[in-house]
Amino acid sequence: MPALNPDQWTTLPRIEEPNLDWIERPVIRVVTAPSLLEGAGFPVRRPWPSADLGFRQADPFLLLDHLGAVEYAPGEAKGAPWHPHRGFETVTYIIDGAMAHHDSQGGGGLIQNGDTQWMTAGAGILHDEMPPEELVRTGGLFHGVQIWVNLPKRLKWTPPRYQSLASSRVTLLASAQGDVLLRLIAGEVGGHQGPGSTWIPVTVIHASLEPGARLRLPWPEEFNALAYVLEGAGSVGPEAVLIHEGQGAQWGRGQKLTVSASPVVSGPSGRLEILLLGGVPLREPIASYGPFVMNSHADIVQAFEDYQSGKMGAVPAVEFNPDAESAPHG
Ligand code: MN
Repeated sequence: MPALNPDQWTTLPRIEEPNLDWIERPVIRVVTAPSLLEGAGFPVRRPWPSADLGFRQADPFLLLDHLGAVEYAPGEAKGAPWHPHRGFETVTYIIDGAMAHHDSQGGGGLIQNGDTQWMTAGAGILHDEMPPEELVRTGGLFHGVQIWVNLPKRLKWTPPRYQSLASSRVTLLASAQGDVLLRLIAGEVGGHQGPGSTWIPVTVIHASLEPGARLRLPWPEEFNALAYVLEGAGSVGPEAVLIHEGQGAQWGRGQKLTVSASPVVSGPSGRLEILLLGGVPLREPIASYGPFVMNSHADIVQAFEDYQSGKMGAVPAVEFNPDAESAPHG
């Protein structure tokens, strides 16, 4: 797993253990992500939105897609060609392999090896999320995630914004015992700050736990708390509910949370690789259709009209893709 992996964890700043008398968050549910094909046909696992973990439970996170891990054969790698978004943010974090991104505002770049791209679609943007030519030609390992973060009604029409969060900017931290690596991509944990700038309070962490390691983190009371296992196995919460690759978890209310790695080594890295997500729920009505997430059906109708009349931007001429009109969302 080449996502940013420093050799030495012991020299990193440590997160202080939460106070013993703080309230531990119980685990409300563990869900197994169904597999589906997205974009032009690449495999994803989507723990939410799902029947058991819907918009209301995941709020303010609309969607999590686990991309791969997949070993592409030559010519097999696929992406999501030109398509629009409005009303939220797409966050793409690439662990192995690479994704090339272009958008109608001139933003873009190669996302790879622990880089994150944080794109605020806001009022509307078109983008193209494709494997780079090299990966298509040679094939190879591809592994990443895409997270959709909702925007409150007052920010749905904010101008689009593109943040390139290179892996070198990610805040690296270690647990108090030094056996857990935390990559803080955005938001705050235990007084430390990640590089991503967010419209609403949101924390995004990729943690790696050595076999048998236990991670205890302070977690703001007003945040929700979600986890998703990228690789390996372990347990969550005070009752040590078992969780493994491809499963998501939702915690209930409290002031701190616990994640433990199985003492048994499993998976290519031998570690528990887990995403930890939290944010302040928006508690607003959600109208979602394909690439648009708004507050009402009328907003969605308007989004389609605005997209078709070119108000969300146009595919750059040099990048013209004849499939764009029929492109599914990604
Ligand atoms: Mn997209």
